[in-house]
Amino acid sequence: MENICKKLQEIKCNIKACAQRCGRDYNEITLVAVSKRQSIDKIKEAILCQHKIFGENYLQEAKEKREQLKDYKDISFHCIGHIQSNKAKIAVATFDVIETVDRIKLARLIDRHCNELDKKIKILIQVNIGREPQKHGVLPEESEQLIREITEETNLEISGLMTIPPLTKSSPEKRHYFREMKQLANNLSEKNLFKNKTKVELSMGMSSDYQIAIEEGATIVRVGTAIFGARD
Ligand SMILES: *Cc1c(COP(=O)(O)O)cnc(C)c1O
Repeated sequence: MENICKKLQEIKCNIKACAQRCGRDYNEITLVAVSKRQSIDKIKEAILCQHKIFGENYLQEAKEKREQLKDYKDISFHCIGHIQSNKAKIAVATFDVIETVDRIKLARLIDRHCNELDKKIKILIQVNIGREPQKHGVLPEESEQLIREITEETNLEISGLMTIPPLTKSSPEKRHYFREMKQLANNLSEKNLFKNKTKVELSMGMSSDYQIAIEEGATIVRVGTAIFGARD
């Protein structure tokens, strides 16, 4: 219990210091506590320490956790894992933010289920910034086209971009990818492609590199093991 509180505090302190160092407003940075494959008790501990925003990758697991946490009213869940099209409905029912929209078909389905369930959710576009063949996400050069299609065909509001850069890369290489993401977000924002031009979300950075990501403009960092310890 103490431990998770302490870790959360430590990370929030680091985020604050990091924001200060690079002249950014700490309040514009959201910490998503990635709770995938962590126990429900650990999540409850984080909630007791006033943390309210969680990230999950696997739909069935997230759905079960949501049910187990239904007494906690003001918590929110971000989807940070790949969504198969036939699972779009559960995703909409389970999450408040879907960070991993990477194709028009999925966006159409999310939009349809939002209408059916009378639910509003935020979406981010997942970009495959490292152009890795095995990875999900739209290629950077195809992101504008995808956003235009989503805007024309659906009522979804696109809050910004999300990325998972190549895992084995060194810090300078990660920084390079984060910087490319920031530039892409700026370019798209100048074309008025996001819901709120003054606050374009940029979700990037995990336990090992969230400070680099903040230095390069992240507004959402997704931190798992540095808060909860090793996953089951
Ligand atoms: C698991 C995961 C994280 C958290 O990773 P840690 O290294 O545990 O901080 C962040 N983002 C995504 C997309 C993940 O799948």
